[in-house]
Amino acid sequence: MASWVLLPVTPVTGRCLVAPVRTQRSSSICVRSSLDTNVSDMSVNAPKGLFPPEPEHYRGPKLKVAIIGAGLAGMSTAVELLDQGHEVDIYESRPFIGGKVGSFVDKRGNHIEMGLHVFFGCYSNLFRLMKKVGADENLLVKDHTHTFVNKGGNIGELDFRFPIGAPIHGILAFLSTNQIKTYDKARNAVALALSPVVKALVDPDGALRDVRNLDSISFSDWFLSKGGTRMSIQRMWDPVAYALGFIDCDNISARCMLTIFTLFATKTEASLLRMLKGSPDVYLSGPIRKYIIDKGGRFHLRWGCREILYDQSADGETYVAGIAMSKATNKKIVKADAYVAACDVPGIKRLLPPQWREWDFFNNIYELVGVPVVTVQLRYDGWVTELQDLERSRQLKQALGLDNLLYTPDADFSCFADLALTSPEDYYIEGQGSLLQCVLTPGDPYMPLPNEEIIARVTKQVLALFPSSQGLEITWSSVVKIGQSLYREAPGKDPFRPDQKTPVKNFFLAGSYTKQDYIDSMEGATLSGRQASAYICDAGEELVGLRKKLAAQDSGEYTKAANTTDELSLV
Ligand SMILES: Cc1cc2nc3c(=O)[nH]c(=O)nc-3n(C[C@H](O)[C@H](O)[C@H](O)COP(=O)(O)OP(=O)(O)OC[C@H]3O[C@@H](n4cnc5c(N)ncnc54)[C@H](O)[C@@H]3O)c2cc1C
Repeated sequence: MASWVLLPVTPVTGRCLVAPVRTQRSSSICVRSSLDTNVSDMSVNAPKGLFPPEPEHYRGPKLKVAIIGAGLAGMSTAVELLDQGHEVDIYESRPFIGGKVGSFVDKRGNHIEMGLHVFFGCYSNLFRLMKKVGADENLLVKDHTHTFVNKGGNIGELDFRFPIGAPIHGILAFLSTNQIKTYDKARNAVALALSPVVKALVDPDGALRDVRNLDSISFSDWFLSKGGTRMSIQRMWDPVAYALGFIDCDNISARCMLTIFTLFATKTEASLLRMLKGSPDVYLSGPIRKYIIDKGGRFHLRWGCREILYDQSADGETYVAGIAMSKATNKKIVKADAYVAACDVPGIKRLLPPQWREWDFFNNIYELVGVPVVTVQLRYDGWVTELQDLERSRQLKQALGLDNLLYTPDADFSCFADLALTSPEDYYIEGQGSLLQCVLTPGDPYMPLPNEEIIARVTKQVLALFPSSQGLEITWSSVVKIGQSLYREAPGKDPFRPDQKTPVKNFFLAGSYTKQDYIDSMEGATLSGRQASAYICDAGEELVGLRKKLAAQDSGEYTKAANTTDELSLV
């Protein structure tokens, strides 16, 4: 489990109310905002790994599956398995579901998030899941532009709002951006023209392979070698790299960045950002939880898996015999046909039996390291990102400001948003102002600092970005620290990501860090769950065969194996 610390400071009273909040600018063209398949061009001429077809109807034996971890990967696995008629129990060590995209309500009614989450338009697997569980209406589309806030309140844009779609809109966005100077723009254009992005227009799978082959070098090395400039990296690409992987361009692999760029360049909607109407627990995890429960799935919160119990069958095959679970002082052994560890990177490292490291497959996981990240929420008594007008920023009758994800090269937080504007259902409070959520990357220097110090530093940097917020007071704040969040997508790390299918026949993995064609993200977590479920379904007959073999082995009577009951207790 990722270690996280949560300490709200200076509490505020008041209830969250629904408020009519409008975006400050409106798009010059009509951007397709629905998640309906008939308006999404995502699966057309797209890499197959990222956009897998619907699974075939499962006709094999019903399996009992125990999933460890109720993050998006675990829940995505559960939804897929339940849809195929299997029986699913999910065990989560925390008191709430959602993992890194989880949230909960503190004693005073504040929604505390594990981190700021935005949804790119290319999140086909996540959107498919949200549609399935009835959460597709829970996203608010933002203007199709990526906004950079520079010191002193200067706004730069990577503006994709053109009447012509991909790839023209992307080319125009990069040529017209005011975030970098003309010289840097020209060099930027050369670098991107020499990237696999161009190939992706005609051969998406080939381009993705090329991108994957660039995993061993950093984005900076790749970009500079293609003619890009240091200034572009500093002013534009570093904030994007920090937002994507919580590390800068010198440290992030070219594969990670180019995976996204390829999609941005070839798919009109890929760069379109959406955010939840309100908190993840209400608008994302909540509907998924309901779907799982309605389909007969069971959640077991605060039940942490302490140990994977394994053995060898008579023919020398290693298999999982059960998982040792504990909830406070309660302990139990859970048995199932298939076990899925849908943990984060530190969680899976703790869980794997040390002897399994003899397999390169499992040992490789220890090459992956989580990146620390700190998320700060600041509630103000006015509108911080209302840049033009001091008077309007101090009134509390109407919510005003920048309603989008905001990047910055000029603060220790690389990306942030005013949740009172972007996700008003849970975050706009009548009579109160902005609720900034700032993601501090790299989080390392902030991890040891006391919350008061973190808040003081972030507040100062917010003021430097928005001088017009001078004089606004912070009425409430919170700090969430995650010691190991995303795996560090550094050069050379991709080959160490494990497949969802493991050398142990009845043991599977899921999680955004596992092998899938997207980056460590909500989309990657969802995709990993689909892949884990597909492997389990493929192995259906074999898993039941293993169950029967073990039952026969236990009774010492192989001849009776055919009569073995299909039922196994999951506790
Ligand atoms: C600050 C922040 C901002 C982010 N922003 C974005 C964004 O804007 N867009 C985006 O796409 N992605 C974003 N991400 C990434 C995204 O949240 C993750 O990639 C994704 O949620 C990972 O899901 P997961 O299920 O693989 O892992 P997790 O969410 O980490 O879930 C793993 C679960 O397993 C549980 N667990 C671990 N060990 C055990 C055990 N032994 N027993 C029982 N339970 C266990 C954990 O408690 C946890 O709930 C962000 C992440 C952070 C931290």
